[in-house]
Order: sequence, then structure tokens, then C-alpha cells
Amino acid sequence: MVLLDGKKIAEDIKAELSAELEHIKKAGEKIPHLATILVGDMAASQTYVKNKMKACEEVGIKASLFNFPASVTAEELLAKVESLNKDSDIDGFFVQLPLPSHLNAELITLSIDPKKDVDGFHPENLGKMMLDLPCFLPATPFGITEIIRRYNIETSGKRCVVIGRSHIVGMPMGVLMSRNHPQGNATVTVTHSKTRNLKAITQEADILIVAIGKPGFVTADMVKEGAVVIDVGINRVQKLDGKFQIKGDVDFETVAPKCSHISPVPGGVGSTTVIALLMNTFKAARGKKAQIA
Ligand code: NAD
Repeated sequence: MVLLDGKKIAEDIKAELSAELEHIKKAGEKIPHLATILVGDMAASQTYVKNKMKACEEVGIKASLFNFPASVTAEELLAKVESLNKDSDIDGFFVQLPLPSHLNAELITLSIDPKKDVDGFHPENLGKMMLDLPCFLPATPFGITEIIRRYNIETSGKRCVVIGRSHIVGMPMGVLMSRNHPQGNATVTVTHSKTRNLKAITQEADILIVAIGKPGFVTADMVKEGAVVIDVGINRVQKLDGKFQIKGDVDFETVAPKCSHISPVPGGVGSTTVIALLMNTFKAARGKKAQIA
């Protein structure tokens, strides 16, 4: 069984981006700049943002954080988005989700300039993804395709089952795995909460990608011998001693022995999600340079 080490992949990509940054500096060009909008004080969001800022620092790119209280109005937030859209020093930015319930996340996402949408959530980028046009891929699915590519996992002609159909993970993952591409060409089934007889479907999967947010949901009896299992879930679970730990959507201990490859939680997809955001930021900076040239 091969452990899909997302942490190691993230370190490799960080080194590649750092090397690119050295070229940028030597050429006297502008250093890529990623901005983050964080609303409220949700612990999970703060942790995600802290990890993203830390990764920027490690690679050496500029990172700016704009904090708003949970009481911020939609107008105030839209005004910030508009100013970041116009700021020529900012190459890319994102709004950390989820937002407080009085704010419409879709409206905020729509207001982001698609050329700076490094989260890849804007309909223009999602539409371009469907059409195989250059775009920003959503960070988590992009990170997963990097895991697949860097571990030389064959996807062509394979049966791929995705559990979960969220707009940020499951649905785009299904599209990416089925497109005509070296990390695609799979025959894909996207399953969800209304799927009947899920086990019979997952048992057919050569590649099983799980993103539902239920700790240990996928058990050994649901997995085919020799399958590749990619666990996207991040669930905070209380242990018997009262302390918390992060668990994936897959029951790792029982499933791992059946797999040819499996991603751990933590240290799997979470690490590559952060780095995919940085890859998109470099891409945004390169795109801007190409437009100026
Ligand atoms: P979501 O809550 O938006 O969607 C969950 C999906 O699971 C839904 O489409 C639902 O239909 C499906 N589902 C629920 N119960 C099901 C069942 N019994 N059978 C089949 N499908 C079922 O979730 P999301 O935003 O995609 O996140 C899923 C998990 O991935 C969460 O744990 C989240 O924290 C994690 N996540 C991790 C990363 C990362 O970087 N690793 C990024 C995003 C989300």
C-alpha cells in the first residue's frame, strides 16, 4: 500500500515555486501577491487562513490579510472585493468560506474578478473548466489532480467514484476525472445523499474520492481490493480523553490494507489544497505579465 503523501507533494511544489520566485526576483519583476478576506472568528476558518498565509511566507510571496467582524455588511464586503479587483499589486485573492448567514456567498464570489479568482469558484472559471479552456481550477480538486499526477496513478479507462457533489469538491472533481486529459479519461460516477445502494457503486471503483464530511463513513466493505482511495474529509472528532483530533471521511485503519494507494488525514489532500491556491496565484501573476507584454 502506497501512502499518498500530500505533505511531501506540497513541500516539493513549494520548492518549485520558490525557485520560480528566485527567477522573478532576478529579473526584477513583481513578486506575486495573494490577498485573503476573512470574516468573523470561526476557529476552522482562522486555521485554514493561517496555514495559507504560512505557505505564502515559506515560498516567499507577498500575502495580505483583511479581517472583518462577523457583523460586516454585504456592502462593506463588496466594496473590499471591488478595491482588490482594481488593485494592480494584488494578483489573486479569495474570500474564506463559509460566511455568516446574513451574507450571500454566491453574490460575493460573483463579484470577484475571474482573473484574480485563485479559489476557482467563479462561474467563469468553472465554465472554462467544463470546456477545457485555461482557467483557475478549484483548489482542492486541483490539488488532488497533482497528487494523481505526481504518484503516476493511471486514470485512463478506470472506474472512478466520487462521493459528494459539493460545488467546491465533488462536482468539479467528477468533471476533472472524466475530461480528456492525462489525469482524466476515467468513467466517473458522482454519488450523493440521495444515491441508492452506494456500497454496490463504490465497490466497483478503481479510484474512490470521498468528500462528504462524515468521519469514518467509508468502511472496508465498501472498497474494492487494490483501489486508490483519496480522502478529502476534514472532521474534528472528540476522543475518549476529551481531546480533539482530525479524522477523514474514510476509516483509514480498516480501509488502508485493501488499497493500492490511500491518502491520509491529516497530511493528504489538505496540504495540497493550500499549495494549489499558491499555484493559482503564480498563474494569475504570469497571466497578468503576459497581458502587459
Ligand atoms: P458539503 O457538505 O458541501 O457536501 C457534502 C456532500 O456529501 C453533499 O453533496 C452530500 O450530498 C454528500 N453526502 C452526504 N451524506 C451522504 C451519504 N450518506 N452518501 C453519499 N453522499 C452523501 O461538503 P464539502 O464542502 O464538499 O466537504 C466535504 C468534506 O471535505 C468536509 O469534511 C470538509 O471539511 C472537507 N473539505 C476538505 C478540504 C481539504 O482541503 N482537504 C477542502 C474542502 C472540504
